[in-house]
Amino acid sequence: MNKPYSILLYYCYTPIADPETFREEHHLLCLELNLLGRIIISKEGLNGTVSGLKEDCDKYMEIVKADPRFAKVDFKVDESDKHAFAKLHVRTKAEIVHSGLLHIDPNVRTGIHLEPKEFKAMKDREDVVIMDMRSDYEYSVGRFKNAVTLDIENFREFPEKIDALKEELKGKKILTYCTGGIKCEKASAFLLEQGFEDVYQLHGGIIKYGKEAGGEDFEGKCYVFDNRVAVDVNTVNPKVISKCHVCGTEEDRMVNCANPVCNLHVPICEKCGWELEGACSTECKEHPEKRPYDGTGYYQKNLNGYNPLKGFNRRKTSNVSK
Ligand SMILES: [Zn+2]
Ligand SMILES: [Zn+2]
Repeated sequence: MNKPYSILLYYCYTPIADPETFREEHHLLCLELNLLGRIIISKEGLNGTVSGLKEDCDKYMEIVKADPRFAKVDFKVDESDKHAFAKLHVRTKAEIVHSGLLHIDPNVRTGIHLEPKEFKAMKDREDVVIMDMRSDYEYSVGRFKNAVTLDIENFREFPEKIDALKEELKGKKILTYCTGGIKCEKASAFLLEQGFEDVYQLHGGIIKYGKEAGGEDFEGKCYVFDNRVAVDVNTVNPKVISKCHVCGTEEDRMVNCANPVCNLHVPICEKCGWELEGACSTECKEHPEKRPYDGTGYYQKNLNGYNPLKGFNRRKTSNVSK
C-alpha cells in the first residue's frame, strides 16, 4: 500500500461571512498545494473532493482544521496512485449541495448522527427503515441491502418524493445515508420538518462506513465523483447487484457511453465494452462524435480553455503566477 496520492472527501456546514473572499483565499491555497478537484463554498459552508500528493493533502487538512470555522470537518481519505481529477474548480454557490432547502440550517436541527458502528448495530432492527438519499445512477450500482431508494436523478428532487413514502415510513426509525454524509444533513432535517420523529443519519456516509465498519451489507460499489467512478467499500460480504447494460451479465464496472451526446452512465462488461467500443448501444457506436475507447470508459472533459486561475482578480493572481 502506501500510495503517493490522497483523495479527500469532506464537507462542513458552518457560516462563512464572505464566501467570495474566502473562495479566493482557498483557491490560492489549493493552487499552492497542487490540489485538483471540486470545491463549493457558500454562506452555509464548504464541500469538497480533491486529490493531491499525500503530503500536500495532509498539509491542506491541517490548514483547514486549524480554521475554527472548520474545526468539526471530517475528512474521508483514500490513497491513490495518481490524481483523481484533471482540473481544479473552486466555486461559490447558494448551497454546498443543491437541495432547494435554503431555509434549513443543519447546525440548528438535523437527524441524529450515527457513527458507522452505531449504524451497523441499528440497521437490521425491525423498526428501522434505511433510506438512500442519492440519485438513481448512484444506487443502481450499489446500495445497502433493503434500502428504500428514491426515483430521483438529482438530490433537489427528493423533497417531492417523500409524500408517497409517508405510509411506509410511519412510526419507523429512519436511517438516511449518502456517499459522504453531506446530503443527509439537510435531508434528515427535512424529514424532521415533515413530522417524522425518529430520524438518524450515517455520519461520514458510505465511504466512512466502508473504512470503519467494513462496509457490511452494502451491496455493489459506491459511486464517487472522481475518475475512479465507483469504489469497493464492502470487505465483509461483498456482492454484485448490477448487470451489464448490454448483455445482462452480472457486472459492476461503470462506464460513460463513448458517445458524448448520450454519455449514459451504466455498468458495461469488459467484453461488451470492447465490442461496442465503449458505447452503450450500436446507435451510439455509430455516432459521428464517438470518443475513442481506451478500456476504462472514463472521459476527461475537454480541457480547452481551462485556466486554473480563472475567476481571480488580477491583483490577487499576481502572487501566484510566475
Ligand atoms: Zn456485457
Ligand atoms: Zn449511449
